[in-house]
Amino acid sequence: MPRYDFAPHFTEEEFVCKCGCGTLNVNRKFLERLERGRIRAERPFPIASGCRCEEHNKDEGGVDSSSHLASIEEECYAADIGVRGSRGRGIILPALVGVGFNRFGIAKSFIHVDIDPELPPNMIWVY
Ligand SMILES: [Zn+2]
Repeated sequence: MPRYDFAPHFTEEEFVCKCGCGTLNVNRKFLERLERGRIRAERPFPIASGCRCEEHNKDEGGVDSSSHLASIEEECYAADIGVRGSRGRGIILPALVGVGFNRFGIAKSFIHVDIDPELPPNMIWVY
C-alpha cells in the first residue's frame, strides 16, 4: 500500500483498520504532525493501531469516544506507536511534545497520541 505523500514515513497499510474491513480515514493534520515527530525522534514509529471501525474498536476494548474510530464520515485522530523500553519512550515522547502533541496514553508496549478536537488537551494517562 502507498505511503502518504505528506507523511512519507507512514503507509496506508499501517493505518488501515486491523480487522480487515478496509476502514482508512486518518486526519491529515494529525499525520503531518506525526511525521514531524518521527523526523524529530530519528527512530521508527511502528503503528500498532491507527484507524478502527466500530466493531474492531469494541474488540480492542476501546471506549466509545475513542479517537481511533474511523468511518467514511469520521476521521481517525490517533495512533498507538509501538515502543520497546524506557529509552524508546524517553526519546519518542519528548519528540512528540516538541512538535505540539499534548494528549498521550502510556502503555508498556506503546504510546498513544492523538489530537482529537472533542477531547480535552494536556492529558497523559496510563493503561
Ligand atoms: Zn474494521
